Amino acid sequence: MGYDSNNIFARILRGEIPCTKLYEDEFALAFPDIRPQAPCHVLVIPKGPYMSIQDFGAAASPAEITGFFRAVSAVAAQLGVAESGYRLLANAGPDSHQEVPHFHVHILGKRKLGTLLAVP
Ligand code: AMP
Repeated sequence: MGYDSNNIFARILRGEIPCTKLYEDEFALAFPDIRPQAPCHVLVIPKGPYMSIQDFGAAASPAEITGFFRAVSAVAAQLGVAESGYRLLANAGPDSHQEVPHFHVHILGKRKLGTLLAVP
Protein backbone atom coordinates (compact mmCIF):
# COMPACT_ATOMS: atom_id res chain seq x y z
CA MET A 1 0.00 0.00 0.00
CA GLY A 2 1.40 3.39 -1.00
CA TYR A 3 1.07 6.88 0.36
CA ASP A 4 -2.52 8.17 0.43
CA SER A 5 -2.28 11.72 -0.89
CA ASN A 6 -5.76 12.46 0.50
CA ASN A 7 -4.81 11.90 4.13
CA ILE A 8 -5.64 14.84 6.37
CA PHE A 9 -2.05 16.05 6.82
CA ALA A 10 -1.44 15.99 3.05
CA ARG A 11 -4.53 18.15 2.72
CA ILE A 12 -3.24 20.52 5.40
CA LEU A 13 0.07 20.78 3.51
CA ARG A 14 -1.82 21.66 0.31
CA GLY A 15 -3.82 24.31 2.19
CA GLU A 16 -7.13 22.49 1.65
CA ILE A 17 -7.73 22.17 5.41
CA PRO A 18 -6.79 25.00 7.75
CA CYS A 19 -4.35 24.75 10.62
CA THR A 20 -2.67 27.22 12.94
CA LYS A 21 0.90 27.27 11.66
CA LEU A 22 3.31 27.47 14.56
CA TYR A 23 6.43 26.83 12.49
CA GLU A 24 7.17 26.26 8.84
CA ASP A 25 10.30 25.86 6.81
CA GLU A 26 11.39 24.00 3.69
CA PHE A 27 11.21 20.63 5.42
CA ALA A 28 8.55 20.75 8.12
CA LEU A 29 5.29 22.22 9.31
CA ALA A 30 4.11 22.38 12.95
CA PHE A 31 0.58 22.98 14.19
CA PRO A 32 -1.45 22.24 17.34
CA ASP A 33 -3.08 18.84 17.69
CA ILE A 34 -6.84 19.18 17.33
CA ARG A 35 -7.43 16.88 20.35
CA PRO A 36 -4.72 17.96 22.80
CA GLN A 37 -3.59 15.41 25.39
CA ALA A 38 -1.44 17.92 27.31
CA PRO A 39 -1.32 21.71 27.72
CA CYS A 40 1.32 21.66 25.00
CA HIS A 41 0.49 19.21 22.21
CA VAL A 42 1.92 20.07 18.82
CA LEU A 43 2.41 17.98 15.70
CA VAL A 44 5.42 18.31 13.42
CA ILE A 45 5.16 16.82 9.95
CA PRO A 46 7.64 16.58 7.10
CA LYS A 47 6.64 18.20 3.82
CA GLY A 48 7.38 15.08 1.80
CA PRO A 49 4.91 12.21 1.26
CA TYR A 50 6.02 9.67 3.89
CA MET A 51 3.59 7.30 5.63
CA SER A 52 5.55 6.71 8.83
CA ILE A 53 9.01 6.85 10.36
CA GLN A 54 9.71 3.55 8.59
CA ASP A 55 9.03 5.10 5.22
CA PHE A 56 10.73 8.39 6.17
CA GLY A 57 13.87 6.69 7.49
CA ALA A 58 14.15 4.47 4.41
CA ALA A 59 13.21 6.87 1.62
CA ALA A 60 13.77 10.49 2.68
CA SER A 61 16.98 12.23 1.65
CA PRO A 62 19.65 13.08 4.24
CA ALA A 63 18.69 16.77 3.84
CA GLU A 64 15.02 16.01 4.54
CA ILE A 65 15.86 13.92 7.61
CA THR A 66 18.28 16.47 9.03
CA GLY A 67 15.96 19.36 8.20
CA PHE A 68 12.99 17.64 9.80
CA PHE A 69 14.70 16.80 13.08
CA ARG A 70 16.30 20.25 13.30
CA ALA A 71 12.79 21.66 12.90
CA VAL A 72 11.45 19.41 15.69
CA SER A 73 14.04 20.69 18.16
CA ALA A 74 13.49 24.29 17.02
CA VAL A 75 9.74 23.89 17.57
CA ALA A 76 10.29 22.47 21.07
CA ALA A 77 12.47 25.47 21.91
CA GLN A 78 9.89 27.86 20.42
CA LEU A 79 7.14 26.23 22.51
CA GLY A 80 9.15 26.81 25.69
CA VAL A 81 9.48 23.15 26.67
CA ALA A 82 13.16 22.60 25.93
CA GLU A 83 14.10 23.36 29.56
CA SER A 84 11.07 21.91 31.39
CA GLY A 85 11.09 18.77 29.29
CA TYR A 86 8.70 17.15 26.88
CA ARG A 87 7.85 13.85 25.24
CA LEU A 88 8.37 13.16 21.56
CA LEU A 89 6.03 10.47 20.27
CA ALA A 90 5.70 8.90 16.85
CA ASN A 91 3.18 6.16 16.15
CA ALA A 92 3.97 3.78 13.31
CA GLY A 93 1.57 1.20 11.98
CA PRO A 94 -1.48 -0.67 13.28
CA ASP A 95 -0.26 -1.79 16.74
CA SER A 96 0.62 1.81 17.58
CA HIS A 97 -2.84 3.01 16.60
CA GLN A 98 -1.39 5.45 14.05
CA GLU A 99 -4.44 7.37 12.90
CA VAL A 100 -3.05 9.60 10.14
CA PRO A 101 -0.82 7.87 7.55
CA HIS A 102 1.58 10.79 7.08
CA PHE A 103 4.69 10.66 9.29
CA HIS A 104 4.39 13.02 12.24
CA VAL A 105 5.81 13.49 15.69
CA HIS A 106 3.82 14.67 18.68
CA ILE A 107 5.49 17.14 21.06
CA LEU A 108 3.80 16.84 24.46
CA GLY A 109 4.62 18.96 27.49
CA LYS A 110 3.77 21.62 30.06
CA ARG A 111 2.58 18.98 32.54
CA LYS A 112 4.07 15.96 34.28
CA LEU A 113 3.66 13.27 31.65
CA GLY A 114 3.80 10.17 33.83
CA THR A 115 4.95 6.79 32.64
CA LEU A 116 5.71 6.13 29.03
CA LEU A 117 2.76 3.90 28.19
CA ALA A 118 -0.85 3.93 29.33
CA VAL A 119 -2.02 0.64 30.86
CA PRO A 120 -4.15 -1.07 28.18
P1 AMP B 1 -1.58 9.47 15.43
O1 AMP B 1 -2.55 8.64 16.23
O2 AMP B 1 -0.19 9.42 15.94
O3 AMP B 1 -1.71 9.18 13.95
O4 AMP B 1 -2.01 10.98 15.67
C1 AMP B 1 -2.80 11.71 14.81
C2 AMP B 1 -3.16 12.99 15.52
O5 AMP B 1 -3.67 13.91 14.58
C3 AMP B 1 -4.25 12.83 16.60
O6 AMP B 1 -3.69 13.20 17.87
C4 AMP B 1 -5.35 13.79 16.15
O7 AMP B 1 -5.95 14.49 17.21
C5 AMP B 1 -4.60 14.73 15.21
N1 AMP B 1 -5.40 15.37 14.18
C6 AMP B 1 -6.27 14.78 13.33
N2 AMP B 1 -6.78 15.71 12.49
C7 AMP B 1 -6.21 16.89 12.79
C8 AMP B 1 -6.31 18.21 12.29
N3 AMP B 1 -7.12 18.50 11.27
N4 AMP B 1 -5.56 19.18 12.85
C9 AMP B 1 -4.76 18.89 13.89
N5 AMP B 1 -4.60 17.67 14.41
C10 AMP B 1 -5.31 16.68 13.88
